[in-house]
Amino acid sequence: MPNHLWMNEEHTAYGDSVRRFLEDEFQPNRDQWKTDGLVPKEFWTKAGEIGILGATIPEEFGGLGLSRHFDAVTYLEQAKIGDSGWGFSVHNISTHYITAFGTEQQKAKWLPQLASGDMVAAIAMTEPGTGSDLQAVKTTAVKDGNEYLINGSKTFITNGGSADLIILVAKTDPTSRSKGVSLIVLETKDLDGFKVGRKLDKLGMKRNDTAELFFEDVRVPQTHLLGKDEGQGFYQLMKQLPWERLILGFGALGNAQCALRVTLEYVKERKAFGQRVMDFQNTRFQLAEAATKIELLAAFLDQCLAELEMGQLTPEKAAMAKWWGSQMQCDIVDECLQLHGGYGYMNEYLISELYADARVQKIYGGTNEIMKELIARGLDQD
Ligand SMILES: Cc1cc2nc3c(=O)[nH]c(=O)nc-3n(C[C@H](O)[C@H](O)[C@H](O)COP(=O)(O)OP(=O)(O)OC[C@H]3O[C@@H](n4cnc5c(N)ncnc54)[C@H](O)[C@@H]3O)c2cc1C
Repeated sequence: MPNHLWMNEEHTAYGDSVRRFLEDEFQPNRDQWKTDGLVPKEFWTKAGEIGILGATIPEEFGGLGLSRHFDAVTYLEQAKIGDSGWGFSVHNISTHYITAFGTEQQKAKWLPQLASGDMVAAIAMTEPGTGSDLQAVKTTAVKDGNEYLINGSKTFITNGGSADLIILVAKTDPTSRSKGVSLIVLETKDLDGFKVGRKLDKLGMKRNDTAELFFEDVRVPQTHLLGKDEGQGFYQLMKQLPWERLILGFGALGNAQCALRVTLEYVKERKAFGQRVMDFQNTRFQLAEAATKIELLAAFLDQCLAELEMGQLTPEKAAMAKWWGSQMQCDIVDECLQLHGGYGYMNEYLISELYADARVQKIYGGTNEIMKELIARGLDQD
């Protein structure tokens, strides 16, 4: 399994504590939460207590003030146990938005609650009518006195049903495309005009309460505009999306490692034609290829992470991490399921969950087609 050269004793110890936490608090409940379609609030606050949620939040705002490597460690540990349902990544990405663009008052108001897990966060970009074309969002936030009046709807929102804080992508100037986009922070508790719609019935990610959201004459104070100026939303999204795409790559890596681990266990036990399935040359070659792809992906992601910390990660490279990582994940998980034979299709085997969960990785965070478009745009510049 990959040897991340950036991992020092501190990262390893942190990873050990995340692993223990997931073993103790997540694993005994994973089936129940799959049935419930939700990870309960108590789990979030427990994660907050051990510092996972606020690892990269500055200390003065209730976090640990660590580098993003520690968030990558958490996401890897989550993925290595084969979970994609707990919405840690989206919560974590939200904290980065507030840390990067929030005013001092906004950071003081929201970051401590996000670090403790008292507030669970979501980011609402996608609408029923538009996903890839973010500049075409129709949800509006129009100034009215010292408030914004919000109307519109969002769909496919991870943590949507349980979010206490939503970073909403809305048009403060509906006549413009990118320049009209702003990010508005909503506190959902007792918010008149805000409604959570259906919990969406999905192929995978069953533990996540992915939901539709509706806003009808919702009023929030103007101080909830993220940052100081209107029209900065698209810029803010573009600045943060590389981290989102990189962390999706780390999820792909962890899930692929999990698939390889459970498949090795299976093929060493299962017999056919008087020998272990592991002994067939096809199995050996498939697993050798998977192990190689995992090493390559890890090396590339580690390079991207180093560049991110140095402020040098380009959107194109982050897009490569997202599309190639998710493609590798889907390929590996599919091959690993095949090596389970019919049992791979049964829900009692983890590989089937990994298979169902993997598919969306090529879709969310910007589809893989959009990722390739971004990369090609970079290649097409003079
Ligand atoms: C489980 C799940 C969780 C999600 N979580 C969130 C969340 O927390 N927050 C959030 O805001 N959104 C979330 N999404 C939404 C996700 O980001 C969008 O589904 C995605 O961006 C694609 O948008 P769309 O579904 O509207 O597809 P469309 O944009 O309609 O795309 C349809 C197809 O057309 C292709 N296409 C579109 N434009 C181009 C182009 N220019 N060139 C080539 N091909 C193109 C796409 O690649 C795709 O194959 C989630 C989605 C799912 C399924």
